[in-house]
Amino acid sequence: MGDRKKMKEEREKTIEENNDGKNTGAIATQDPVARTDPGVMTGTMAMTDALAMAGTDDHSRSACIYVKTFGCSLNQSDSELMAGLLEDAGFTVTDTLEKDTAGDVDYDLAIINTCSVKNLAENKFWKEYQYWNAKKIPVIVAGCIPQAERALLSGPLAHTSVIGTRQLIKIVDIVNRTLQGEVVHDISFAFHDRLNLPKKRKSSLIEIIPISEGCLDQCSYCKTKHARGILHSYPREQIIAQFKSALDAGCKEFWITSQDTGCYGFDCYRPEKYFLPELLGDLLAIPGDFRIRLGMANPHHIKTIISGLLRVYAHPKMFKFLHIPVQAGNNRVLKAMRRTYTIEDFESIITTFRQHILDIAISTDLIVGFPEETAEEFQESLALLRRIAPDVLNLSRFWLRNGTAAAQLQQLPGGITKLRSEETRRVFDTLIRKQNKKWVGRIGTAIIDEIGKNNTVIARNDYYKQIIIKNPPAGIRLGTFVTVRIIASRDYDLTGEILS
Ligand code: SF4
Repeated sequence: MGDRKKMKEEREKTIEENNDGKNTGAIATQDPVARTDPGVMTGTMAMTDALAMAGTDDHSRSACIYVKTFGCSLNQSDSELMAGLLEDAGFTVTDTLEKDTAGDVDYDLAIINTCSVKNLAENKFWKEYQYWNAKKIPVIVAGCIPQAERALLSGPLAHTSVIGTRQLIKIVDIVNRTLQGEVVHDISFAFHDRLNLPKKRKSSLIEIIPISEGCLDQCSYCKTKHARGILHSYPREQIIAQFKSALDAGCKEFWITSQDTGCYGFDCYRPEKYFLPELLGDLLAIPGDFRIRLGMANPHHIKTIISGLLRVYAHPKMFKFLHIPVQAGNNRVLKAMRRTYTIEDFESIITTFRQHILDIAISTDLIVGFPEETAEEFQESLALLRRIAPDVLNLSRFWLRNGTAAAQLQQLPGGITKLRSEETRRVFDTLIRKQNKKWVGRIGTAIIDEIGKNNTVIARNDYYKQIIIKNPPAGIRLGTFVTVRIIASRDYDLTGEILS
């Protein structure tokens, strides 16, 4: 810590000298210095320029940047990209918050990558933002909140640098300018290639590959749409190249992610009918020992590509894990949510997958307390849950999100949505407890993908079920495929022993 403090004081002195102490007063929470450096380029920039530019500013050699990430795998991947570009430019980047004995932190800048999916995530962001402001440490806000709520840039974020979800490749420039005391707002929707660039993975084992951003739907409750926009599928060559380079770098688990993986290629590969199954087929054909976990895909898109998906799900390197959000158990509510499938569609997809891929793990999302949802309609959601008995339930109480169509509907009292959420959680806990008992005694392959607490490791079997392994053999390495026998089950994980 000591020498970082010394280095920081030095850096601040340099900034002071550079700016002859001019004070614009614009940025209350940060060093009150603004600077328009002819070397700082604006508008779209080629990656080489951005990287080259990073090299010119000597203060990057000492600055330490903290990155806080909220939200989904795509957001995690965005943070890994920003961290990779910054480290490549000579910054020190961490997502571990270290405090000294006085509870003080010693970072030069904090990047907060935000999520706008729920009020809860938004409240957490503002708490985090106030924390860094109170420490008088410069902040850059990234992610879906400012991108979906542009008014914030002339309001509470007027004096804070903001980087858009499509401008990540500019992070080095924006950090340099913010460290110089400038306030940069760049949330343009101009698209820049973001694959095959330096990245700093949270886990050296897990590669998160976004295959597109945005989606083709207009769900009435959704704020993410305002941030991520219309579907933009990334070029298959770039995805395959990123996959191969991550494999060469030692990754063993690949999370294929986006807002909706189900509509990959619907915007750009229609003539050659190159959609999700074709892309997964090409990735699975790459030689090597790895597993692919497919991220969320919407029922109405899965319906159109189901035969191809069933084919790739049969592949041994594909986790038998299907994340298919249903959101409600009643067709009138689905219509009010502007979800374009029916309960019958959803159930037939689940039945078909369970017929073709034995024991496939089903993950689904459910929103309870949607405006005007009647008690009977809510009971239909619980009935659907009991019929499907998924392995994973991402349960959400409905939250009114400004600017969404659902915000115009008659809201249910908060007490009702809370009760419905609690009842749903109880129903799911009973189901999963019974469900997981079926695994006891079974033997199968699993990949060690995390070091746990108290001399345990965490593995994932081919159904992406989490397995806690106590007292693993000495020297066991992350990424090792082992044969495991399940010896016990709990609500949210299994316990296993390594046989070989
Ligand atoms: S599919 Fe619906 S919920 Fe998902 S990002 Fe698009 S609009 Fe939002």
